[in-house]
Amino acid sequence: MAIAKEYEDITKQRRIPVDIITKGMRIVNEASLAWEEARTSLDYSIFESKLVKLVDYEKDCYKYLDGKYHGFDITLTEMEDDFTEEKYDSLFNEIEKEILPLVKKILTMPKKYNIELTKEKFDIDKQRKLTKKICDLMGYSNEVGVVGETIHPFTNGINSCDVRTTTRYDESLLFSNLYSVMHEVGHATYELQNNSEFSATALMGGASCALHESQSRFYENYLGRSREFIEFLYPILKEVYPTQMEKYTLDDIYYYCNDVSNQFTRTEADELTYPFHIIIRYKIEKELFHNELTVDKISDRFNELFMEYFGVKPKNKLLGCYQDVHWSSGFGYFPTYALGSAMSAQFLASMEKDFNPFTDMKNGDFKRVNAWLKEHVHKYGKSKKNLEVLKIATGEDFNPRYYIDYLKNKFKKIYNI
Ligand SMILES: [Zn+2]
Repeated sequence: MAIAKEYEDITKQRRIPVDIITKGMRIVNEASLAWEEARTSLDYSIFESKLVKLVDYEKDCYKYLDGKYHGFDITLTEMEDDFTEEKYDSLFNEIEKEILPLVKKILTMPKKYNIELTKEKFDIDKQRKLTKKICDLMGYSNEVGVVGETIHPFTNGINSCDVRTTTRYDESLLFSNLYSVMHEVGHATYELQNNSEFSATALMGGASCALHESQSRFYENYLGRSREFIEFLYPILKEVYPTQMEKYTLDDIYYYCNDVSNQFTRTEADELTYPFHIIIRYKIEKELFHNELTVDKISDRFNELFMEYFGVKPKNKLLGCYQDVHWSSGFGYFPTYALGSAMSAQFLASMEKDFNPFTDMKNGDFKRVNAWLKEHVHKYGKSKKNLEVLKIATGEDFNPRYYIDYLKNKFKKIYNI
């Protein structure tokens, strides 16, 4: 199937004249440099002028790619097969209807943890040791990979015996690093557990962007932020950071790692507010490609939507609409993150029919989880399409109910609602 998809993509790309493609590549290069520059100078006018060109280029391509899909659906389905505006709208409307009231209620409630925890500093060498410990637990050994250091963490699969990941260390961000490691190792595990025959071929990797993200988020959030895993982690944290940790209870750590907040950074968002960070970006993209919004108004629209969902407004474009690098290279990527999170819940429900992964998390034991995901998801690599893998693993088509129920149950319990 993957080969058919590759063929379809190549055939599609061939419909765009070479000079247009070359122009597009030049615009992406310029936009990426402009985004970097704007971050330092805080003058986003140079980036916005490139973004105008990028939006025009994408719209320009629609006339060559029109066929099974039209307009913005071309952008969306290029990133995630089968997922059109109609499907995303239905998922996001459901999330808005069922989850937004909960977000709004929780944002008025007092913090559940000792906020002194946010002021602690955590020695970086010790953080590196914790990274090693997490990798060992998850079965990610030095023989198959390495955790390098970078500003924006990512994972790079070379072959099924060599998949490398990265993280970022900061004395104030112990948990941010810890969960970033679990996230990236989740991506790595997916590729390492591909059928070994796919190694270093076009079939190695994940079935789609959302499928890949469903795996990283499964390890990071569903397992890593579970009460059971934090029960396992707490004594380890106390052992590594005895002075800092003696002031905090297990509840402090659990509630801190699941704190629902209206902070501005998408990558630091908690599980409950995360989909709204995505919905804001999705709505902006949709309006841009439906000619209902122009680039010079993106920031105002972003702030307006942020205010609507979270009751606050970012102070500048760095904290607001242009915090992510994604728009410097194209569109349609953000919704796959939320879709991936939602798919994780469907995988979890299916896994729970076979065994309870949270019992294993009490002992930091990932073996049964890894084996289940290998058998039902990972082994297929790119040899099957996104929805085929989902159906094989869960027996169902995509069903957002699992995600909505998971979020509601988890956060209502945490906040005693
Ligand atoms: Zn990811």
